[in-house]
Amino acid sequence: MTHGNGTRDDGPLTDVSAVPAGRHAVVVGGGLAGVTAALALADAGVRVTLLEGRPRLGGLAFSFRRGDLTVDNGQHVYLRCCTAYRWFLDRIEGTALAPVQERLDVPVVDLARPEGRRLGRLRRDALPVPLHLGRSLATYPHLSLAERARVGRAALALKGLDLTDPALDSQDFGSWLTAHGQSARAVEALWDLVGVATLNAAAGDASLGLAAMVFKTGLLSDPGAADIGWARVPLGELHDRLARKALDSAGVRTEVRTRVTSVFMNGNGEWSVQVPGETLLADAVVLAVPQREAHELLPPGALDAPGQLLEIGTAPILNVHVIYDRKVLATPFLTALGTPVQWVFDRTEASGLKNGQYLALSQSTAQDEIDTPVATLRERYLPELERLLPRARGAEVKDFFVTRERTATFAPAPGVGRLRPGARTKAPGLYLAGAWTATGWPATMESAVRSGVGAAGAALAALGRSRDRLPDFEEAA
Ligand SMILES: Cc1cc2nc3c(=O)[nH]c(=O)nc-3n(C[C@H](O)[C@H](O)[C@H](O)COP(=O)(O)OP(=O)(O)OC[C@H]3O[C@@H](n4cnc5c(N)ncnc54)[C@H](O)[C@@H]3O)c2cc1C
Repeated sequence: MTHGNGTRDDGPLTDVSAVPAGRHAVVVGGGLAGVTAALALADAGVRVTLLEGRPRLGGLAFSFRRGDLTVDNGQHVYLRCCTAYRWFLDRIEGTALAPVQERLDVPVVDLARPEGRRLGRLRRDALPVPLHLGRSLATYPHLSLAERARVGRAALALKGLDLTDPALDSQDFGSWLTAHGQSARAVEALWDLVGVATLNAAAGDASLGLAAMVFKTGLLSDPGAADIGWARVPLGELHDRLARKALDSAGVRTEVRTRVTSVFMNGNGEWSVQVPGETLLADAVVLAVPQREAHELLPPGALDAPGQLLEIGTAPILNVHVIYDRKVLATPFLTALGTPVQWVFDRTEASGLKNGQYLALSQSTAQDEIDTPVATLRERYLPELERLLPRARGAEVKDFFVTRERTATFAPAPGVGRLRPGARTKAPGLYLAGAWTATGWPATMESAVRSGVGAAGAALAALGRSRDRLPDFEEAA
């Protein structure tokens, strides 16, 4: 077993008999949800042990080494409106390493024009909502004048939707857009451009409730809400190294390479958390693992309908990584239409590449390509990049590889809302966290952090501890 400082310890993790009764919480899962829950519990004075099955923290948002490079498993971005993830960055002292752009500015290149490559931009002005996007929309070249006007009307209709209305979850966003006058082109060039990247589903496959939440919060709440933030360092620097440092200073005992095999209430009314060879005793347990693992670990009776967890689908994301011998992209990122390429990010500095340029293509809703061989993807994407980035035409490709995340997110399909459980279970002292739980957000870092704070809050209430130190994200917004 490996302790928080990364050193190997062959001795027993915990002498069970030495664990004093009371106020010990075990958090299972060291993704963002689990790290957050552990920090929030420790900040409130609870003794916490965090158990993670893999050799590192960060869950679905991590880095690995490839030669001299540090590669992220997938490009991650967040928005200024992600108040919980921003709190997390602050809490681990990582804010400066993942700054938010000053003002929303997204280059959108259309390759399907007969006249050739055409650049448009989605950006905001320093005006109140919804005027902040008015000029950008009015001049957006990828839609006709009539389409732009209809987009404006649909945005206002979206703003009027009541996010607390459960009926929204059973409808699909695509049908709603069609009913509100949106052409296939408007869906492709605007709604899906944002929606596919944030929801990991095309409009027709997405719950109206989740889509409305994303668009209302991101584009129609505060003028700066959709300004984009991303890590200028490898994700592991934030979600593993800095997270572990914060956990260590908060007094959390962090154990990686420690897979929990079962969780049950023992005869003394305490929780027993089993890892190979050992048992930990706890007053509260937070299961911050993916839904399938949560289903396996939940004791009987903890949820009314535990089978629902298995009905929550998953959706893949593919990242295509290309190293060129020279700079071919002049902006930090761009997105594209009329090509399979979705979003392209410059990863050169963050990965530690010294010569040339490293681009990562973030391909959401990758169901059709998640198992495609690298050679086929290479044949498909390199010519597309040459079409998109003229400077790539004469450049040499030094390396090409892909990262595949088959269960990157839960599928935000219509009806998913009723399947997502809250933090509390029916078993006293047992709580759930994870981006897939009922946070109201799609599967994002924001949802993961919110869920971690929610689970910690529920546990603190049951332990009779003050929740004063828990962050209040609505207030922060
Ligand atoms: C390629 C990709 C791109 C993405 N892009 C974005 C983006 O741009 N913006 C955004 O906000 N979000 C993005 N996401 C989603 C985001 O990464 C996730 O929603 C978030 O990280 C989920 O965190 P979590 O803690 O809920 O779950 P996880 O990260 O899944 O963490 C669960 C942890 O539990 C551990 N575990 C499981 N079983 C056990 C066990 N029995 N014992 C001990 N440990 C166990 C796992 O090893 C894992 O570390 C992306 C995801 C991927 C994969």
